[in-house]
Amino acid sequence: MQDNKCRCGREPFYFRRQSGEVLCKRCFSKGIERIVYKTVKREKLFSPEDRIMIALSGGKDSIALAHILSKIEKSYGTDVFAVTIDEGVRGYREEGVAIASDVASRLQIEHHVFTFKEAYGYTLEEICEIAKMKGIQLLGCSFCGILRRRLINRLALKLGATKVATGHNLDDEAQTFLINVFRGDVERIGRSRTKPLVAREGFIPRVKPLRYVPEKEIAIYVYAKGYPLYQRECPYVRFSLRDEIRDVLNRVEENHPGTKHSIVNVSDSLSKLLEERLVSSKIERCKVCGDPSSRKVCRTCEVFSLLGLHES
Ligand SMILES: [Zn+2]
Ligand SMILES: [Zn+2]
Repeated sequence: MQDNKCRCGREPFYFRRQSGEVLCKRCFSKGIERIVYKTVKREKLFSPEDRIMIALSGGKDSIALAHILSKIEKSYGTDVFAVTIDEGVRGYREEGVAIASDVASRLQIEHHVFTFKEAYGYTLEEICEIAKMKGIQLLGCSFCGILRRRLINRLALKLGATKVATGHNLDDEAQTFLINVFRGDVERIGRSRTKPLVAREGFIPRVKPLRYVPEKEIAIYVYAKGYPLYQRECPYVRFSLRDEIRDVLNRVEENHPGTKHSIVNVSDSLSKLLEERLVSSKIERCKVCGDPSSRKVCRTCEVFSLLGLHES
């Protein structure tokens, strides 16, 4: 007979299919935090002198990240603060920005909100209008992601961050690996890690402490810690390769628990094998902004010039 209590004797809260463990709320939460601490330690993601900028969207991944990193801050002595980007999508972003502010004040961390409007002169809605008028087929989320990534790096430089931490989880990372396989992009498979292989001038290193935590367990962790779940989907989300892969992966994981972990482990092993080649390979740079890119002009600069946008 299987004992349906946690090994500590408390009432069950979560059943981890992959390992068959029954966990109480406390052991579950501690377990998630342990995975993150171990990742931070093993991969040497931070040093005590770091000033870490958390990309806090208000979504569950970013809340879990802020919660755990603010705990690390207390024991490590690193400096942690959060930045929220308001892309300007009415009826969607207000809630996320409000949640992000609540989370930051609960955790007592410095918090800044920046808008696309301030940075680019237009909200995402207005940018989409411009694109429509010019007959440009926007790439939906990947396009918004491009603008957000660039803004986050600029803010990190401006606010004196030495690292940027993002909430990418195990599901995101497994999906990314498969996307790179489908696109035949070996170089990107090699570069997909918890932190960049080589430091690049002008770029604050982005680290991913949640790379080994499944999305579902992050949602449950955030719920266990008493945070609100902000599940509303952005109206600009479109059908993408990532969505298809997410569905397939969830189906496979359901029947074969542990698949997502295996995929990310393969990704890590390949990255190690490719390390020497990646470190020594010369990185081509965009001739406009200097961003590493396989093209003469990177995608970000291409989007900017197509839309006639300028960074203010
Ligand atoms: Zn327990
Ligand atoms: Zn560029």
